[in-house]
Amino acid sequence: MSSKVIVSNIQRFSLTDGDGIRTTVFLKGCSLKCPWCANPENINHSIEKYHDADNNKDGVFGREMTIDEIYNEVVKDKVYYDNGGVTFSGGEPLLWINEYEELLKRLKDENINICFETSLFVKKEYMELALKYADSMIVDLKILDFDLTKNVLMNNLNLYLDNIETLFNIFDSSKIVIRIPVSNEYVISNSDKYVDFIKKYTPKRVELFKLHNLGEKKYLLLGLKMNKYEEVSDSDLDDFKNKLESVCETAVLKF
Ligand code: SF4
Repeated sequence: MSSKVIVSNIQRFSLTDGDGIRTTVFLKGCSLKCPWCANPENINHSIEKYHDADNNKDGVFGREMTIDEIYNEVVKDKVYYDNGGVTFSGGEPLLWINEYEELLKRLKDENINICFETSLFVKKEYMELALKYADSMIVDLKILDFDLTKNVLMNNLNLYLDNIETLFNIFDSSKIVIRIPVSNEYVISNSDKYVDFIKKYTPKRVELFKLHNLGEKKYLLLGLKMNKYEEVSDSDLDDFKNKLESVCETAVLKF
């Protein structure tokens, strides 16, 4: 019998989750609790029911899908992929990789390009298994401070730094994109640490995202409180981008 994973969404024709046209598979369950998370329905690894009082309807976040069902969704658009393919995102897609390795094998047999979007707050063996199949990696760079990582993200920065070191040692850095969710509080106020990090590892590209206070409705439906963040100004974001570009030839894009 085919194994199952909990999927929150499958987005076809995505242009923002790696190169080319991609199908992005969002898996439910995460190893972090970022207070700015725009997809809070992806944090818990369980199917969550909700009642939408505004529209007087019931709904559910997440559904179990078999490997066959996901495979069929992904290969459906193979003809459009060209240099695109499939991206596994979440949540944290590497947490469940043992459950869907068979899917990765089948996608490889079909020559479908595979990307993982990950926080890298996972056991090293999960990352190493992903790298057996990955054509590219999108890796988040969140908070570069030990105490804040523990108190804000509820995890251990050593785990991330250790995985990053291994990743850049064993995987082609020209296939790694680093994504930074930019806040005044954690990033702009500490920008030199981020610049040093990028200078050290020189990934293919850095993508900068402002925290936008998105996902309010989903927080409401889940009965969770949403944290609000002051948006980074355009000039501070530009300064940060210029600093990053001054230390290496990595392309820096902002969204
Ligand atoms: S890693 Fe992503 S999905 Fe997980 S809590 Fe943070 S922002 Fe949300």
